[in-house]
Amino acid sequence: MTRVLVLGSGQLGLMMAAAASRLGVQLDRLDPENWTLLRGTSPTPEPLPSDWRGEAYDHVTVEREHFPDRAVLQAFDSHPGFKLANTLHCLADRRRQKSFLDELGIATSEWLTVRDRADLAELQHRVGLGLVLKAATGGYDGRGQWRINDPQPEVPAEAVPGQLIAERVVAFEREVSLVGARNRRGDCVFYPLVENEHRHGMLVCTIAPGELAPGQQAEAEDMLRRIMDALDYVGVMAMECFEESGRLLVNELAPRVHNSGHWTQEGASIDQFEMHVRALANLPLTVPETTRNTAMLNLVGTAFDPAWLDLGKTRLHWYGKEVRPGRKLGHLNVYGATNHALLDNLEALMKRWDPMDPADIQRALDILKRDIGDARGETQHTRPEREQRISN
Ligand code: ATP
Ligand code: MG
Repeated sequence: MTRVLVLGSGQLGLMMAAAASRLGVQLDRLDPENWTLLRGTSPTPEPLPSDWRGEAYDHVTVEREHFPDRAVLQAFDSHPGFKLANTLHCLADRRRQKSFLDELGIATSEWLTVRDRADLAELQHRVGLGLVLKAATGGYDGRGQWRINDPQPEVPAEAVPGQLIAERVVAFEREVSLVGARNRRGDCVFYPLVENEHRHGMLVCTIAPGELAPGQQAEAEDMLRRIMDALDYVGVMAMECFEESGRLLVNELAPRVHNSGHWTQEGASIDQFEMHVRALANLPLTVPETTRNTAMLNLVGTAFDPAWLDLGKTRLHWYGKEVRPGRKLGHLNVYGATNHALLDNLEALMKRWDPMDPADIQRALDILKRDIGDARGETQHTRPEREQRISN
């Protein structure tokens, strides 16, 4: 039996474990902060000896790219199944990630490393007043970011000069992302581009598949393939993009399964978690089929509500974490055979929605209504084939 170890003990590893068990692959999770092991989907941590190095595992993967305690990654450096050291070095720091994309000639928002206010003024001179500052390491869900729009810009007191980048604020039409997977031989497969909506830097909903301009899928696949090839990457990777004037700019890369790929659990023939395990375990990377139109809604800071289980064409994924404000606690995948059917199902959910901000569902509804309008040929992104019935 193939054995996979995940560094990290959050929901992404948990969903990988569930997928691995369907393939007869044993996938366990390491909680690096407490140095405990969670076997499969078990919630019960088992303490580990301090010199434990996961020797019994064939492959070591991650569910996040930031490990504040560097010793955790160093502990696995010499593990023959851990191939991610180079990728994490390159991507876990925004300065290196942006430089890497620049070297590949892949467009991102204009940026520079910020040491002092003169750097901010220089970038403003080039691109205009609106900048977003991002901590080079450790940020997620919009944390470690500051917006500035001031002609006399200051480096925020909480930021660390030199450990910070500034980017132009992109006036995007929409945000999209591409999830793909690559195996050891260099074969790649991709899911369709999806549209994402963020609020305060946190993903609130994904609509899949996204409504595309002609050629955009191929353009995005080419970009992500080049990125994965350059890193000789194995597994699932996500590429978040802005669409600005019809052009794709990469916002950031995640060398792991990604929140914007959660829709694949109900909307694709092979979900991203299984695809990641397949790539690692050297199992066939079959091209995934999109089987349903899906809206993924994140459940943020809200208590479990059994009413979610009472809705047709909606599946709940609850992570079993302690409820805290602003924390991702689960997600709902609402699906339909067509965008019209999905719209009806979302409207039904909206009527029963109590604990969360209905604006998040409203946003998903707006995107779908726009897409349905598009499919009727009312706007530029005409893709009539999207309204054809796809198998349910
Ligand atoms: P994640 O949780 O995806 O890891 P993160 O905290 O690492 O997020 P980003 O993805 O860089 O941060 O930014 C979060 C969101 O903030 C983006 O999805 C986008 O909505 C907005 N944002 C970030 N950078 C820019 C930019 N340069 N221009 C416009 N909006 C931006
Ligand atoms: Mg992001």
